[in-house]
Amino acid sequence: MFCSLSRLYRGLSRPTRRTTQLIWGSFSRSLVLSSQRRIPELSSFVARTNTCGELRSSHLGQEVTLCGWIQYRRQNIFLVLRDFHGLVQVIIPQDESAASVKKILCEAPMESVVQVSGTVISRPPGQENPKMPTGEIEIKVKTAKLLNSCKKLPFEIKDFVKKTEALRLRYRYLDLRGVQMQYNLRLRSQMVMKMREYLCNLHGFVDIETPTLFKRTPGGAKEFVIPSREPGKFYSLPQSPQQFKQLLMVGGLDRYFQVARCYRDEGSRPDRQPEFTQIDIEMSFVEQTGIQSLIEGLLQYSWPSDRDPVVVPFPSMTFAEALASYGTDKPDTRFGMKIVDISDMFRNTEVGFLQDALSKPQGTIKAICIPEGEKYLKRKDIESIRKFAADHFNQEVLPIFLKTNNNWNSPVAKFIMEEQGLGLIRLLETQEEDVVLLTAGEHKKACSLLGKLRLECADLLEARGVVLRDPALFSFLWVVDFPLFFPKEENPEELETAHHPFTAPHPSDIHHLYTEPQKVRSQHYDLVLNGSEIGGGSIRIHDAELQHYILATVLKEDVKLLSHLLQALEYGAPPHGGIAIGLDRLMCLVTGAPSIRDVIAFPKSFQGHDLMSNAPDSIPPEELKPYHIQVSWPTDSETKKSSLNHPCHPES
Ligand code: ASP
Repeated sequence: MFCSLSRLYRGLSRPTRRTTQLIWGSFSRSLVLSSQRRIPELSSFVARTNTCGELRSSHLGQEVTLCGWIQYRRQNIFLVLRDFHGLVQVIIPQDESAASVKKILCEAPMESVVQVSGTVISRPPGQENPKMPTGEIEIKVKTAKLLNSCKKLPFEIKDFVKKTEALRLRYRYLDLRGVQMQYNLRLRSQMVMKMREYLCNLHGFVDIETPTLFKRTPGGAKEFVIPSREPGKFYSLPQSPQQFKQLLMVGGLDRYFQVARCYRDEGSRPDRQPEFTQIDIEMSFVEQTGIQSLIEGLLQYSWPSDRDPVVVPFPSMTFAEALASYGTDKPDTRFGMKIVDISDMFRNTEVGFLQDALSKPQGTIKAICIPEGEKYLKRKDIESIRKFAADHFNQEVLPIFLKTNNNWNSPVAKFIMEEQGLGLIRLLETQEEDVVLLTAGEHKKACSLLGKLRLECADLLEARGVVLRDPALFSFLWVVDFPLFFPKEENPEELETAHHPFTAPHPSDIHHLYTEPQKVRSQHYDLVLNGSEIGGGSIRIHDAELQHYILATVLKEDVKLLSHLLQALEYGAPPHGGIAIGLDRLMCLVTGAPSIRDVIAFPKSFQGHDLMSNAPDSIPPEELKPYHIQVSWPTDSETKKSSLNHPCHPES
């Protein structure tokens, strides 16, 4: 039995999306990562001898007890039983003496949970089901117990049955019975296990829990506030264990990690949740390259064995290069269509808005080339691209269609001189039927716009059948050399941190800190996967004076809020650095899920609600009294305003 099991558990294979039977079939084949040495005992301590998905011809004649949910029943003769491990066919006895067993199995509604005991027999010749891993056998039932009946379901437990996300979240416990959710959560658990193994067993990290009830941290995301019984005093939920992990370094716990729950009071988006999980790491006596190698090894070690292996080291790109070529700090490097600066081609242009742009400081002309855009982009696509640029960036975008013999079709075609045209073809490597999108303006703004259009056009091309981004490809990238500070959007005279205020300046730029802080690069690094930021970290400031200067003088923060950390840095704080990997986003990309909610057992809705339990919920005024707080109910117009600030996503 053990050797056949070991053949089964070869690596968690991805469920296919064809039919439920096939999905369960492929899912049942294996449940552990290939490098896991011990085969887990799936039926120890419980009222079953085997799982539904594991029985084969090698089990013929064995007496088994199975527990599972009723998936199908046919002609009151066959019943298909399901558990997390697969499906098995059960023969409902027809003889008089087993009338009570027949009654239980025929009358229990679908999705009722039953226990059956019987013998593994082979299916009659010609009735084997090759699509089902257990398709050669069936169970001749002797006894059956209805463990619990199922009332009428709000939706069928079949992945191919369409249901709204709101309904799925409302009945999450039923949604979790589906193959895809089972797969996602089990794979997540296995990858985390491997990460723990890599960090603790192979590299001596210590898994340490840090508090969830904490205090407000200056800067960064909005925090959730928790009332306390002391009048006017509040805890905050931590955005991350950042301060604690640094304090652990001061405490001599020089290799820390935690699967940490973090909280940010921001609206949900496909890749955001108000509470989310990070693989949080910190090390003493480390430099940027040390952290990067650790993470590359961690991902390589924990990567599912049925995916292409992770190739290390990951490529690296500076922030400046990412912005210039991809218009973002999280470039999707799976495809080209890079932004090209064509300012030099147009120094003598007669086109007014191009001239205008070039005459301004930081003024540039940029373009992207959409291969075969003429074939795939419709006129209305181009119109909506131009409208998007005007509405969101206050920018003009000119489309240029490259016709045969290097002829241009564009509102500016007649102003493009021959050598400019040839230069464009050379710089953008354009070919017939390509479309060039051109814009002019301040460097960052022009790049950001074209970065967005690049992704938009990629989506459009893919919607029309062009394969640009191979779904099997995982393209990791380090983005490095970020500026330490960005000008604040609402007041560009003031600075805010690009990562967080504990990030150390780049050693070669430190001299600018006291004169031109906006010129200082940092020792901050982000990990990007397929265009999503899945991690970020930095080498930290371990010098109390420098930390104080940055907080108080550059960022104008209230240092009193961080006096504990500043003080700790004065007591022999070692040099240290770390990183946090966003586990939900990582799992979302690994499983190909459309949203991070699909890799979280009980996620919040778009509006941050738990649709199952209805949290957040109101509390009677008398229960608020111990906290010395009162609700100040918004007026109608305030309610309207706040719903405009947090646009509703239909939840039911
Ligand atoms: N605490 C940081 C974050 O959550 C990560 C780090 O710097 O280690 O982004």
